[in-house]
Amino acid sequence: MNMSWLISLLIYPLILITNTEKVSYKGYNMYVISTENEEQGRKLLAVQNQNLKIHFLKQAVNSKLQGLTSVVVSPQSNAAFNAFLRKNNYDFQIITKDFESLLKSEQPRSKRFAVSPNSINFEEYHRHAKINSYLRSLAETYPNITNLLSIGTTTEGRELLGLNISYNDKVKPMILIDAGIHAREWIAPALALYIIQQLVENSNNAKLIKNVDWIVIPLLNPDGYEYTHTTNRLWRKTRSRGKYCFGADPNRNFNFHWGERGSSDDECSDIYRGSKPFSEPEIKAFRDLILRYAANIKLSISLHSFGQLILHPWTYTTNLPANIKELNRLGIHVAETLKNATKANYGVGPVSQVLYYAAGSNIDWIMAVAGINLTYVIELPPQHDNTMQFILPSRFIKDLVSKSFEGIKTFHEYIENVYV
Ligand SMILES: [Zn+2]
Repeated sequence: MNMSWLISLLIYPLILITNTEKVSYKGYNMYVISTENEEQGRKLLAVQNQNLKIHFLKQAVNSKLQGLTSVVVSPQSNAAFNAFLRKNNYDFQIITKDFESLLKSEQPRSKRFAVSPNSINFEEYHRHAKINSYLRSLAETYPNITNLLSIGTTTEGRELLGLNISYNDKVKPMILIDAGIHAREWIAPALALYIIQQLVENSNNAKLIKNVDWIVIPLLNPDGYEYTHTTNRLWRKTRSRGKYCFGADPNRNFNFHWGERGSSDDECSDIYRGSKPFSEPEIKAFRDLILRYAANIKLSISLHSFGQLILHPWTYTTNLPANIKELNRLGIHVAETLKNATKANYGVGPVSQVLYYAAGSNIDWIMAVAGINLTYVIELPPQHDNTMQFILPSRFIKDLVSKSFEGIKTFHEYIENVYV
């Protein structure tokens, strides 16, 4: 079938970025489409690969292209897209006929949660300024166990902050956690903040910082994150300025097999690798931080949404890393903990096999170049049978982050058993 007529009808609001007016998704339909065979997968992927005018939230997964794909379609394009799905016998569900109304559910139900700069809550998603002021106040209030890390400045001039949580000056094995590299995955920074709060402010967790040091960077891409709050909820990339479009995918910007499979040289693509490795100041800052602490870091965890997965290298090849047994065993152990806590079944495996190629990602570089052998991505789960994906209503935040913390404790337990 000739797709061009269809493609020309579909609107992709993300690339119309010359103005800063807030993108409205009023009347946009959200579909979850199941692809059951390779041909269906290929057809849908062709739409995604050849043209950016369709807004894919999640592509069909696995090497046989089976799985679920989520798409948001403008009112003007809806009839044509619907016809395409029917003609090709896709099994699909329309999650909402007004994506904008789904976005409203992310706003806090009331403002009664407004709190001082010294504390944080998990009833709402916080802006970058609030996150930074919370980190600063922790560093002031708990100088014996925290150290504020100012690791760099973003393209738009925002300060990148992290927290080093360390009980005393003794050199100890360290766990590194980053979140928010992808702007629209709001629940990931929320979990990072919860981890910080639990480690620093909850004295019941003192044992977690006794023998292990932590560095947590709760928001690695604040320019993109702020843009998702002010202008376009579904923005994924940084906000560096290109010739035609803004932003690179910061998780394709690392210098290990940079520019290979699963990344794009089209600067308007959502998986644009950047003009060169470490072109994005946020990623350069993150690289320098990791290299500074590489000798101590035994485990790194990158928080993303959504997927319900625990992933490890490689992203550039389907070959397996040398320590695959250990990676897999620990991943499965954490998945079991998370299943007990959340009832959700987490998949475990290498990114390239479970999801797709993603060359230039952080975990490959962290393992191969920084020499940190235990490096994972946690893709946090969607809610309500896939209807809530990046868009997770604020009323679910607290439950999800507190239960997911159990998985972080399992990671800690392993590091303590093996390295202390
Ligand atoms: Zn992500």
